[in-house]
Amino acid sequence: MSRTPFVAGNWKMNTSKTSALELAKATAKGVPAGVAVGIAPPFVFLDSVNQAIAGSPLLLGAQDVYFEKNGAYTGEISIEMLKELGVKFVLTGHSERRHILGDSPSLISKKAHAVYAAGLILVHCVGEKLEQRDSGQTFEVVQKQLEELGDSMQDPDRLVIAYEPVWAIGTGRNATDAQAQEVHQYIRESISKRWSKDFADRVRIQYGGSVKPENAKGLLSQMDVDGALVGGAALKADSFLAIAAAAK
Ligand code: PEP
Repeated sequence: MSRTPFVAGNWKMNTSKTSALELAKATAKGVPAGVAVGIAPPFVFLDSVNQAIAGSPLLLGAQDVYFEKNGAYTGEISIEMLKELGVKFVLTGHSERRHILGDSPSLISKKAHAVYAAGLILVHCVGEKLEQRDSGQTFEVVQKQLEELGDSMQDPDRLVIAYEPVWAIGTGRNATDAQAQEVHQYIRESISKRWSKDFADRVRIQYGGSVKPENAKGLLSQMDVDGALVGGAALKADSFLAIAAAAK
């Protein structure tokens, strides 16, 4: 089954308006054919980045969202607001949301359902902490995080799972090719059991955690690795585009 690889850059709380626009334009210039490539800048730069990348195949994404449509939710951003700014994909369950900013599994689940229901591409992040891996709980942790999705999402092209071991995010220590493939295969089998094999064969599963141009080819050539979610290396257009090219 051939799946179009998807490489997304998560800029986190980085860039200024000027550097965001420069980075977006430089990234938009080099999108390789045959790979879906996206960037998720900070909320406040989405509008100007959207204008800067107009006409390019680069997909605009958001790092988070709130699940309610509108109302008294100080500081939050709705999906309709994101759609108005050209957002095509949204991350849910990123490890920094789970472990630093306190998003609970039930909140993450509501966010994921809202993103999917709004017709956007959902990038749902899962991954174990180091102590969970060391105590043999990786599959169990990932399984619970997959359950946040329920089983009602019917379009596999709009469901993307990002497997991001917490110990690999921003640490410079990536999973080995074999470690990534093992968990990706588990995720695909889990999706196959809950939905169907056909559905699971179409869902893209990204690897995230210290992906760099030097390790991208090995990771991205694994059978069940369909792209990458990239943090640090997405802040340099040439590094990010080299990773995207490695996904072909
Ligand atoms: C991420 O934030 O999703 C990520 C994978 O970060 P990094 O590439 O910096 O490890």
